[in-house]
Amino acid sequence: MLFKNVMVDDELKMQLITLIKENRISHAQLYLSSAGAHSFALAIAFAQYLSCENPNETDSCGICPTCQKFEKLAHPDLHLIFPNCITKNVKKDPDSKQFAQQFREFVFQNNYHIDIDDWLKELDGENKQASINIRDCSNIINQNSIRSFEGGHKMYIIWCADRLYHAAAPKLLKTLEEPENKTLFILLTENSDKILTTILSRTQLVKIPQIKSDVIKKQLIEDYNISETKAEDIAAICEGNYHKAKTLATESTQLREMVSQFETLVKSIYSLSRKESNEQIGYPDVKEIINDIVAKGREEQKNFLKYLIRGFRNMLMMSTDNENLIRATADEKKIIQNYKDMVTLKNANAILNECNSAIYHIERNGNSGLVFTDLYLKLSQIVSPA
Ligand SMILES: [Zn+2]
Repeated sequence: MLFKNVMVDDELKMQLITLIKENRISHAQLYLSSAGAHSFALAIAFAQYLSCENPNETDSCGICPTCQKFEKLAHPDLHLIFPNCITKNVKKDPDSKQFAQQFREFVFQNNYHIDIDDWLKELDGENKQASINIRDCSNIINQNSIRSFEGGHKMYIIWCADRLYHAAAPKLLKTLEEPENKTLFILLTENSDKILTTILSRTQLVKIPQIKSDVIKKQLIEDYNISETKAEDIAAICEGNYHKAKTLATESTQLREMVSQFETLVKSIYSLSRKESNEQIGYPDVKEIINDIVAKGREEQKNFLKYLIRGFRNMLMMSTDNENLIRATADEKKIIQNYKDMVTLKNANAILNECNSAIYHIERNGNSGLVFTDLYLKLSQIVSPA
């Protein structure tokens, strides 16, 4: 991966390159980004530049044998560590090594814009809790005690470091603290609050900003050959998240389905809270939606809840005359406009808390049907005007 292909501001790339040139690289770095940023690509570009035999001022050469190995993610001193779990093919004692080939293909298929939900689907372990486990940590420690294969740095890229299994972390701490010479750890996360403070304190933080919407627009047109207007629409609502943008560009049905489910739920909550009888939309419709969502698995359920949160937040923006802060498609805007008085400064916090609490219970294997029904009833109470 060359720096020029990473969707990150040039300024940040130059900061990282300067660290290498001035020999000031910290052996343990933590890349913190918002969701859907291009941080994995950046980590690979950094490791490649560090190893390239003939780097120029702004990038790796792209043609030396080392660069070619990086291009295939097959450099023997580049170790990729990522969440994994028991699957159909790996029935016991999983670790990253056993999924290395599958992971590389996943990265290439997604053009380095990788996302944990997609990876869980790829593993086919969606309802299992994938983690970086004790075996992964032992592998790192063992690997770290031997020399590098090619005489340069040994590089460990730990993707989704927030999924480092807590009992495994102490094993890694000593290595992070006293690494062998010429070792580089890059830990990547979107949730620094889920990272152990003992790890935070041992790493140098690199903050990776959201991708700018004009960069996303340009990339969408290049990757999917869509119209400028559509690319602009998507760039406006994807919140700097290229992964989300990609999904919107390729699966417009998924967005349409979510918008329609959102509309039904909101309509029904609205009439229940106003004690209106609504002949068109009643509980059976809501139940059907809940059943649909529950059938999709926990990651999708969480996605829908996050989508709901965005919808309610947009309603608040609309009801408080902050229309310029709304990120929504034309269809979504209509729904938001119709039901905006449901969400006020008074009840907004309670609404968000209920949605977040539903996410919490879904993550902890609560009964999804009950969680969604409970949320529906609670929201109807919270938004009631009395
Ligand atoms: Zn090179």
